[in-house]
Amino acid sequence: MRETGTGWAGPGGRLSGLGVSQGRAAGPLVRMAGPPSLPAPRPVADPEAEAATAVKALEAVAADLNRRAAAARSHAGGGGEAAEILEALAMIADDPMLREEAESRARGGADAAHALDAAFTGHRDALTALGGYLAERAADLDDLRHRAVAAALGLPMPGLPDPGHPYVLVAGDLSPADTAGLGPDVLALVTERGGPTSHTAILARARGLPAVVACPAVADVADGTIVGVDGASGEIALGLTPEQAAEVMERDRAERARLAAATGPGRTADGHPVSLLANIGSAADLRPGAEGVGLFRTEFLFLDRKQAPSQEEQTAAYAEVFERAEGPVIVRTLDAGTDKPLPFLGLPEEPNPALGVRGLRVDRLLPGVLDAQLAAIAEAARATGADVRVMAPMVTTPAEAAGFARRARAAGIARAGVMVEVPAAALRAAELLREVDFLSIGTNDLAQYTFAADRQHPALADLLDPRQPALLGLIGACAAAGREAGKPVGVCGEAAGDPAVAPLLVGLGVTSLSMAPSCVPLVREALAGLTLEECGELARDALG
Ligand code: PEP
Ligand code: MG
Repeated sequence: MRETGTGWAGPGGRLSGLGVSQGRAAGPLVRMAGPPSLPAPRPVADPEAEAATAVKALEAVAADLNRRAAAARSHAGGGGEAAEILEALAMIADDPMLREEAESRARGGADAAHALDAAFTGHRDALTALGGYLAERAADLDDLRHRAVAAALGLPMPGLPDPGHPYVLVAGDLSPADTAGLGPDVLALVTERGGPTSHTAILARARGLPAVVACPAVADVADGTIVGVDGASGEIALGLTPEQAAEVMERDRAERARLAAATGPGRTADGHPVSLLANIGSAADLRPGAEGVGLFRTEFLFLDRKQAPSQEEQTAAYAEVFERAEGPVIVRTLDAGTDKPLPFLGLPEEPNPALGVRGLRVDRLLPGVLDAQLAAIAEAARATGADVRVMAPMVTTPAEAAGFARRARAAGIARAGVMVEVPAAALRAAELLREVDFLSIGTNDLAQYTFAADRQHPALADLLDPRQPALLGLIGACAAAGREAGKPVGVCGEAAGDPAVAPLLVGLGVTSLSMAPSCVPLVREALAGLTLEECGELARDALG
């Protein structure tokens, strides 16, 4: 690998995308396969051979799932729940009725792929007709069908790959549930689509995984090519040797160790304090180094759940975070909707979900969910004695802020705030602060709604750049309202974790920055190199 004037390149050249999670890593590229498309039916000469191929495909699916279950059980930290789900799926693939149905369709003249497809479809329809819990299992059957058809066609099985060695994962796009399920062998992520504030980017940062999105050309790179990924510049070096890859990994380790060696609270060069807080999705994301948790995205705990979590389960999950976190914890109540669907809520499909019922607005359709969550948070806070605050996502008006604060306090949580993610809220920051104890600016959504630009859209990344003066103006107005009211105003969107943007935000007057734990050392270093006055100058220049 060679460093060039504009970045790095391998013997096979270089690709560019959007770097969304800092760090460098290198390893063989492994692609996540999508569901196979079923080819046109083929004439069958030997029905018995087709039946045997169908049975072998089912056996291969069951064996693959059992192998993954065993791997999940052996991972440090458990993985028992994942293993149980995988074993249950393997049992369905092994179901004699399903096998007999596929065999009989093949003997009736269908090729193996169509025989399997028809057998699974029959099973699925039967489950759907039964309704209730069994109908919810129908989606699992679709996943198994895709796997069995792929196996019969000799294609890689869809879903996250598991090659048995460390690798760079390449995909068209990743759902939040895919990203949450990444195993320890994934060294870095590269996706063809996706934007800088998509939840794939957020989850990659939470894991400290270098990630590049919006790189369509990666679709043409062959599986197994050794690639180097620079999650800051967005460059991908192609065709490295194993020795070059090992060198990249070693340098990255050394750089992370250097940054982690600096500790202590966030300060500018002249000692102005700025709390450096962590964004987490569960206790597993906690790392030493932050001064508290500024954003606990509770919906990440339940992304793949088809049944609502009970209050006891919620209390236990929150208590785990409260016990292990150092410093205060700000819990965000469920932010379901648009790119973070929570299947257990059963929200209706909407034509324009980003502008529909999401975040706090879910309370309009499902009034019990928020109060049950607030009760679970309050219970976990009492049980652990932690300093816990709550905030609501997607708040638009002072009346909504007042309603949320009233209900949080009624549940026994003394300190309540709201996120500023909608321009209307930023424009009424002073009025919001009359109702709540603090504001936390979600720059990901605030940029999306200010510029009417989908946060996942790779072609609109320039509009989503947090240095856009219109966005900085709204942030500055919120910070000024906070100063006036004597209440804290922080930023918890991805902008807070960007070492090039964090000083600007401090210059605008925000009092805390909350970010993926992997970004804390970089931001601490960036602030320590500038005085508050210098941060202010940067902000004034950017606004101008
Ligand atoms: C934001 O919108 O900036 C934010 C922090 O919330 P999320 O990214 O989870 O929507
Ligand atoms: Mg948001």
